[in-house]
Amino acid sequence: MAMATLGRRALLAGLGGWSAAGLAGCAGGPNLSGPSAVRLARPRLLLPQVRAELDRITRVTVCLRPFRKAGPRLDVETVGDKTVVHNYGHGGSGWSLSWGSAEVATRKALAGGARDVAVIGCGALGLTAATVLRRAGANVTIYAADRLADTRSSRATGTWSPDSRIAAEGETAADFPELWEAMCRTSFRGFQNYVGLAGSPVEWSERYSLLEDGPSAPTHAEASGAPRFLSLIDRVRDITPKQTPVPPGENPFPVGNVRRGASLQFNVTEYAHVLMSDFLLAGGRIETRVFNTPGELTALKEPVIVNCTGYGARALWKDESIVPVRGQIAWLIPQPELTYGLYYRHISVLPRRDGIVVQQVGGSEAYGWGDDREVPDLTEAHEAVSTIAALFARMAAA
Ligand SMILES: Cc1cc2nc3c(=O)[nH]c(=O)nc-3n(C[C@H](O)[C@H](O)[C@H](O)COP(=O)(O)OP(=O)(O)OC[C@H]3O[C@@H](n4cnc5c(N)ncnc54)[C@H](O)[C@@H]3O)c2cc1C
Repeated sequence: MAMATLGRRALLAGLGGWSAAGLAGCAGGPNLSGPSAVRLARPRLLLPQVRAELDRITRVTVCLRPFRKAGPRLDVETVGDKTVVHNYGHGGSGWSLSWGSAEVATRKALAGGARDVAVIGCGALGLTAATVLRRAGANVTIYAADRLADTRSSRATGTWSPDSRIAAEGETAADFPELWEAMCRTSFRGFQNYVGLAGSPVEWSERYSLLEDGPSAPTHAEASGAPRFLSLIDRVRDITPKQTPVPPGENPFPVGNVRRGASLQFNVTEYAHVLMSDFLLAGGRIETRVFNTPGELTALKEPVIVNCTGYGARALWKDESIVPVRGQIAWLIPQPELTYGLYYRHISVLPRRDGIVVQQVGGSEAYGWGDDREVPDLTEAHEAVSTIAALFARMAAA
């Protein structure tokens, strides 16, 4: 059909947005000038293509999600004369829950009246906890082996995913769902303060789920032994837009079932820059320091310590309840015109400003379970990018 062909060509030419008028003009209907034709002409969504080319991969990164069956560790313990507030083990939800978790940690850290607080770790959880503590009036020093740009947090997808691998069914405290919901809502509000800023540290992007009829191809790295992950997202359905079907005539994708929603996206390079700058401008301090045992924390001058060491807590705190859930990203050169993400054949694409995220996410959240190989798998990366390339090639050929 002429309309479909032009629509797809336009898509491949990189045109963006709805163009009802333009498409009505080329729809090939019998009476384009009458009012009924305008009613009949269905707008097709024109979207810029993802340039999924292997030579546009700028890097392949790997990260380990710090998963605990019981959920994040947020309790308080005493080490020597120090009060240690734990804030680690957020699985695949660390960025999303960071502001809410920071608020919980801050309340506990300041409960005894201390004003000088040390934060161990400068990833998503450490930096937000330090920021919230500083806002509450505490004198805060972050001690960390790595600054945010070098942490595992900087290798995350960067999407709103507040219950991703957060805990296992039947393994949490009874009040965890309520606590999670409170953290989730607090975080969601916290992120709105970063939407609309120069550089777009946080922004909304549209998401398309492209689902084909019939059974999906098995993925090679599904691990056995993973628990049933706790799903809590239904508790907060009210805060994000719903995914709705986009009928075949109104979308450019060559699959039977297309759904569209929108979600928050964290452009982590810019977001990390804003968080670090704000913390330092507010008088916070950062020192590079490595701790080998909890006992070494007692040498710090601060009486209260917030432990935000993420997967590092497995070695530092000998917390073997932390299980790695490996995830890998192939980064493509950014395309500023690309403002939508998509999910297709177990590959997720996110249009981040600092690089387009292409990620094999497997058929379930168990993908990467128990896998602590923190080295890139180039075959997986190339397969993921090639799958997206094949999608757009199909669209060009249709
Ligand atoms: C592939 C992948 C994609 C993800 N995508 C998302 C997403 O889209 N959205 C989302 O919300 N979450 C996502 N996550 C989860 C999220 O990345 C983590 O939950 C989060 O990064 C954990 O942050 P953290 O600050 O606890 O740990 P880290 O980022 O690991 O930071 C730990 C800090 O502690 C320091 N440290 C550790 N041990 C020591 C020590 N012994 N001495 C001194 N310093 C120490 C480190 O140097 C670092 O500064 C993803 C995870 C992966 C693997």
